Amino acid sequence: MKHDAPTYHILGAGVAGLSAAKLLRMRRPESKITVYEAAAQPGGRCRSYFDTRLGAVADMATHVILGANKNALSLLKEPVFSGFPPFYDYARHKRTVFFPHHISEAALALFNQPLRETAPGIVLNTAWKLFPFLPGCLKVWYSKNDLSSALIAPLSAYPDTLKTGFVLKSFAEADGKITKLFFNKACVEVAPEDKIICALDAQNYARIFQGPVFDFNCIVNIIFRTSMALSFPGRKPFLGIKNALPQWLFAAPGFLSVTVSDASAAFCNDKEAARNVWKQICEIRGREAAFMPPYRMIKHRRATLRHDRKNNSLRPDSPVTRWKNMLLAGDWTMKNYPCSIEAAVLSARRATAEI
Ligand SMILES: Cc1cc2nc3c(=O)[nH]c(=O)nc-3n(C[C@H](O)[C@H](O)[C@H](O)COP(=O)(O)OP(=O)(O)OC[C@H]3O[C@@H](n4cnc5c(N)ncnc54)[C@H](O)[C@@H]3O)c2cc1C
Repeated sequence: MKHDAPTYHILGAGVAGLSAAKLLRMRRPESKITVYEAAAQPGGRCRSYFDTRLGAVADMATHVILGANKNALSLLKEPVFSGFPPFYDYARHKRTVFFPHHISEAALALFNQPLRETAPGIVLNTAWKLFPFLPGCLKVWYSKNDLSSALIAPLSAYPDTLKTGFVLKSFAEADGKITKLFFNKACVEVAPEDKIICALDAQNYARIFQGPVFDFNCIVNIIFRTSMALSFPGRKPFLGIKNALPQWLFAAPGFLSVTVSDASAAFCNDKEAARNVWKQICEIRGREAAFMPPYRMIKHRRATLRHDRKNNSLRPDSPVTRWKNMLLAGDWTMKNYPCSIEAAVLSARRATAEI
């Protein structure tokens, strides 16, 4: 088969894979870019879906972006600026200020695990990125619309072809290059001049390409269907909470989304956990917990890598792989960064720069 211009084969349509497609399109407008995605829709961990129980489009997981994360922020269509998150101490039943009371809650949200268990390289690099700790760096942004329309749909316009339902199963190699990609639906020939950007999540990369094996941390999201946007102490659409089951509340018209980082055994029994979370939210709002609205609980068992020393040391130092025609992207590939949208975009930038 004769190819005029090289084709860029991108594996995985998460933020990293789609950002790589966008950067390639901007740098090489004439190039042919194909993205292969296992799921029925793009977005990976950062997407929306239609929830039949709730009867509405909901985000798989609430995502917020810190002001310092400029690369991630630049992707959001119509970002909403929310300033500093207000906090509430459930044990003392009062509102509190972020500094110095809530450093550990902020770290738990950033690293999805306690600060003391986080690799020093990740802590120092994050502090450096946030330096000089100006309010603008630490304030929170989120999307006015659902994640898929605010972030994933605009990025999905860059590849020539986005093949969903394409599950990579294995590959063939010769002379240090990948020559064929075997998907569930087809075998794709990789021409000598083509390049591959592998933007799979860590677990699938390990399974298919024998990469490093990581431990992961869970995040639990509970979405309650409400008749209107609820209000909280602090009068912002979100609230950080100390000493309670729910850690972060986000209110939107028709929804209340609850996030619990590094979620523990308390979430073994979904119904009981949801009831306890709802009861505590009602107490915080000073309301009777008369009835629990319809809800959906999503447990993201592999939400992020466990950001400890062992895992951080296993993360690659560069996007280069042992195959001459394949580069790596994905949040997990950025050593010393917490897994985040920012890390995913930076990994795409690094991989495409190497091309
Ligand atoms: C609950 C939760 C809350 C979060 N909150 C925040 C937040 O507030 N702020 C923030 O910045 N980040 C947050 N994150 C992290 C953020 O979502 C991720 O860091 C980011 O989405 C990672 O993007 P990625 O492209 O690197 O990986 P992924 O999104 O995992 O993309 C990998 C893609 O590869 C595909 N794939 C896997 N195997 C195959 C295969 N065999 N063949 C083809 N395709 C395959 C997957 O389906 C997926 O689409 C959160 C994550 C979760 C789970």
